[in-house]
Amino acid sequence: MDIHEYQAKQILGRHGIRVPQGGVASTPGEAMRVAERLGGRRWVLKAQIHAGGRKEGHFEGDPSAKGGVRVLDSVDAVGLNAEQMLYHVLVTKQTGPQGTEVKRVYLEQAVDIQRELYLGMLVDRRSSRVTLIASTEGGVNIELAARRSPSSILRLPIDPETGLRDQDANNMAAQLGLEGNAAEQAARVMSIMYDMFIANDAALIEINPLAITREGDAVALDAVLTFDNNALFRHQDIRALQDDTETNLGELQAAHHGFNYVKLDGNIGSLACGAGSALATVDAIRHYGGEPANFLDVPPDSKVGRVKDAFELLASDPAVESILVNVFGGGIMRCDAIADAILVATREMPLEVPLVVRLSGTNARLALSSLRDSGPPLTIADNLADAAEKVVLAARETRRTNRRGWWDRVQGALGKQQNDS
Ligand code: ADP
Ligand code: MG
Repeated sequence: MDIHEYQAKQILGRHGIRVPQGGVASTPGEAMRVAERLGGRRWVLKAQIHAGGRKEGHFEGDPSAKGGVRVLDSVDAVGLNAEQMLYHVLVTKQTGPQGTEVKRVYLEQAVDIQRELYLGMLVDRRSSRVTLIASTEGGVNIELAARRSPSSILRLPIDPETGLRDQDANNMAAQLGLEGNAAEQAARVMSIMYDMFIANDAALIEINPLAITREGDAVALDAVLTFDNNALFRHQDIRALQDDTETNLGELQAAHHGFNYVKLDGNIGSLACGAGSALATVDAIRHYGGEPANFLDVPPDSKVGRVKDAFELLASDPAVESILVNVFGGGIMRCDAIADAILVATREMPLEVPLVVRLSGTNARLALSSLRDSGPPLTIADNLADAAEKVVLAARETRRTNRRGWWDRVQGALGKQQNDS
């Protein structure tokens, strides 16, 4: 689960990491009042979306092409710029071309920056350790820094027995070229990050940049905090920070119905029972050259109604160009329950894309014959490999015919124009 920068900064602040004073606003007037309350003469106005690269991003249709992080020096400018950001779509490298609508802005005091460092903490799967990543190349995105100068990226895997030891944090600060007060403060930030990571079951903490000010203070100017969804039940306070408007609608529905759904970028929808089976289904689609539109695992003890909800979630996704239902019904999930769910769903909402079904296990024969007799047009596959191959071909066919349909319409329109003139 992701949270906004302003929420992450509140948490950092509570744990003792220095952050600029700031306030959140959802109207230009509110932003101006925050500026007055904060005082001073320079502020930074920041669009709050769950994506980075805001400064280098641009607002859709904004001819002035200023990004989602702006330094301003009057209360009026704060109001004007908040107006330009709020309820406009910000496009950054991380949002994808469709961008994200800005519903809140954060205004904070501008800091006099001397250096910008990168600090990150995550679980490194190779070493199975929480790992501190640091770089002198702060401010830019870390993938770019890694490409431009790989040697600038420092990694420190942390032993869970000892935690992050003071000497290691001090050593890291020295390697970043810090001295005196700045080195002490940066090392302290690293220790706090580790304690926060463990205490909150975080998946990622990123402070980019950690600014070193002219006075030698270490201040977090940007913060990304991601939490492990599987541990959220232990952290109701964190769960309460979730912004539903930033979460994929399908994922919200799925969470509500109790199945595991992850939206992916492709065009082939799939449904399976059990997480292992669902993973194998997604892998098989990729193996045959297709791109999965989702991962969907319906728990094997689901009733017909819940399977139907899951199927409808797939069928209503506009990105989906073919669907694979792959159920290897061991003991608990009966294949006829799956067939019933498909029958009910497609009777209520006729299917617009090809469906490939692979059912094997308890009551498979019964299920397949009822689907054949009274179900929607579908292709039956014998095994997962066969099913994946067929569903990939079916998606290509949908695309091809849609294109042809589009071409026909364009040709028709052109012909009509010519006739009219
Ligand atoms: P993003 O990474 O999404 O572009 P950041 O919050 O990292 O957004 O801001 C981009 C850059 O803007 C920072 O690297 C820093 O140079 C500058 N910046 C951000 N916040 C402040 C601030 N409070 N004071 C001064 N400069 C800031
Ligand atoms: Mg940043």
